[in-house]
Amino acid sequence: MNASSLVAETVWKDIESTRSVNEDQLSILHFLFGKNFERATRIVDQRGVRRIAGEPSGRSIFQVVGESQRKEEYFCFAEHYCACYSFFYDIVSRGEQLCCKHQLAARLAASVGACVDVKVSDEQLAILLSKL
Ligand SMILES: [Zn+2]
Repeated sequence: MNASSLVAETVWKDIESTRSVNEDQLSILHFLFGKNFERATRIVDQRGVRRIAGEPSGRSIFQVVGESQRKEEYFCFAEHYCACYSFFYDIVSRGEQLCCKHQLAARLAASVGACVDVKVSDEQLAILLSKL
């Protein structure tokens, strides 16, 4: 893991433990993620992050709305994957960013408890994952 990721990880853990974000944490996250963090906060403010959890396993995936007029929704794992174009282009291919705004929105919403929680059966979750 690189230094930026380690710093980000520490900040996320702090936020998760208090369920709130202070000014210092905001400025660190903004420094690390820039415009993508601003976009992510807007998505969270609009309640645009759904956490779809399978029962009984408790495994979950996030569904995050995009910001364009079309309001697409992207499935993502906060730490490892997003189905959006930016994830493949900016992160996987060019390695210029740590993660996309949807992943950030998912992480932020989960950390402060701002997700819309949706429960499905494990079977439904498996079907959903198989379509990624
Ligand atoms: Zn994304």
